[in-house]
Amino acid sequence: MRHILILIMFGYGFGLAQAAESGMKLIQVAPQSYYVEGASALGSKENKNFISNAGVVIAPEGVVVIDALGSPALAEMLVAEIKKITSKPIQHVIVTHYHADHIYGLQVFADLGAKIIAQENGREYLNSDTATLRLRVSKEELAPWVNDKTRLVPATLWVNQNETLQLSGMAFQLLMMGPAHTPDDLAVFVPEQNVLYAGDLVFRGRIPFVGTADSVGWIKSLDSLLQVNAKTIVPGHGPYSTEAQQDLIFTRDYLVFLRESLRQGARDLEPFDEVYAAIDWSKYKSVPLFDAANRMNAFNVYLSIQNE
Ligand SMILES: [Zn+2]
Repeated sequence: MRHILILIMFGYGFGLAQAAESGMKLIQVAPQSYYVEGASALGSKENKNFISNAGVVIAPEGVVVIDALGSPALAEMLVAEIKKITSKPIQHVIVTHYHADHIYGLQVFADLGAKIIAQENGREYLNSDTATLRLRVSKEELAPWVNDKTRLVPATLWVNQNETLQLSGMAFQLLMMGPAHTPDDLAVFVPEQNVLYAGDLVFRGRIPFVGTADSVGWIKSLDSLLQVNAKTIVPGHGPYSTEAQQDLIFTRDYLVFLRESLRQGARDLEPFDEVYAAIDWSKYKSVPLFDAANRMNAFNVYLSIQNE
């Protein structure tokens, strides 16, 4: 009986490992620009926490990576994928925000000698109890992919204003976005490729996850990203698109809709359930993840309006 169980577990584990491995492949979005796409799922042992995207730009002198994925094992897989298409060294990693699923692979790139660039507010997160606690929980939930050797890696360069950096011989516009989805959001526009790596500021084809985000800051950020006028957008999660403007507008309009429909009720201290029930949600009801996310999003925005 025990043998059968072990066999079943082995087969199961093997199948999933294979699926996860074959799931990582570089998708080309512009001549020198790529990304890998994580699963639309919660982080788990089975998917190694491969639930977010990472960008890859092959610049003239080296490789620039955008985000480091959710575990060192994934980062190693990404390095292997990059090696399949170029022998250039990985010289830089730009972090779009210090959230677990985007940063637990950083140490792999740091060990390769890559410079890490992030927005200054990320320091606060790194030094917070939230970050320590999250890593402790992840070591349990995502073992063995996140384990005692997994460490939080600070940036080697913290940026605190919009700036264009020449990285490995190519121009990268770093756009300060937070506080929006997180306090330290940073979007990356590569003008020569006309590609915008937007981090978690843009959700495509699904209801966004608002969480405790600053919705006013987020709307402002999206308005400024619209000015960039990018053609291709690679979000932090989900597939890329060549209709960047439409995607930016979808996320912005959803946030604006939440704020406008909840504002009066929240200010008048009407009970949330009543305010929520009175809103006509028909515009968003058929969008994926409406049932999973919309009510919680609305509740968070309702609370934040009361605190403004
Ligand atoms: Zn994310």
